[in-house]
Amino acid sequence: MRRPIVAGNWKMNGSRESVFELLNGIRDGIKTVTTAEVVVCPPYVYIPEVQGQLHGSPISWGGQDLSLHQQGAYTGEVSGEMLADFGCKYVIVGHSERRSYHAESSQQVAEKYQTALDAGLVPILCIGETLDQREQNATEEVVATQLNTVIQHCSISALQAGVIAYEPVWAIGTGMTATPEQAQQVHAFIRGLIAQQDAEVAENVRILYGGSMKASNAVELISQPDIDGGLIGGAALKAADFLEICRAANS
Ligand code: PEP
Repeated sequence: MRRPIVAGNWKMNGSRESVFELLNGIRDGIKTVTTAEVVVCPPYVYIPEVQGQLHGSPISWGGQDLSLHQQGAYTGEVSGEMLADFGCKYVIVGHSERRSYHAESSQQVAEKYQTALDAGLVPILCIGETLDQREQNATEEVVATQLNTVIQHCSISALQAGVIAYEPVWAIGTGMTATPEQAQQVHAFIRGLIAQQDAEVAENVRILYGGSMKASNAVELISQPDIDGGLIGGAALKAADFLEICRAANS
């Protein structure tokens, strides 16, 4: 039985005041969320505040990215060890915004995945196709290549130490959610691909859906057999909306 996860990716949003309010709201409402594992991924500078407010609560926190390096002359970067030092359990790797705005290749993403594991973090690996790629019927080829690069670099068993997030790029921040059928089809494809190499890993690995998930569509998406929760952007910025999605994962 795979425990569902709902993870909030706050991206570059918030202020000290709004972060304080958001955390208060999530912490207060979390008592009604019994099954799902709940995670928040704030911008780096707010991680100490998050640690202070969530310490001792059932909510975990994580980074939105990490450096490929452990320490040294890498201006502006933050290492996995630093994230772990502030109690992070998770870190997002290969988000489409990193792949497109920062030209992160699938090989670099695979290396970051391993770097996260080496730092004792649980990587949330984002994979997904653009609209162009979907229209050219290349969705399966794209997600297979992104996933296989990680498997080749880190090993198949390394997948079980992480979480996969299928995020069609055309659905991120656009309000254009994949239908439950479209999402399930790709999730089943991903699980099948893994099963060809290791049936146990395929059975155990959690695959989240991300892309304009909100309270109104979360139940239908998360109730699909191969969807084990969500990676949430916009709807993670309001406690009530985020908690509603967490409750939808209480199956
Ligand atoms: C994301 O950025 O991972 C995401 C899913 O964003 P949104 O929910 O806003 O589409």
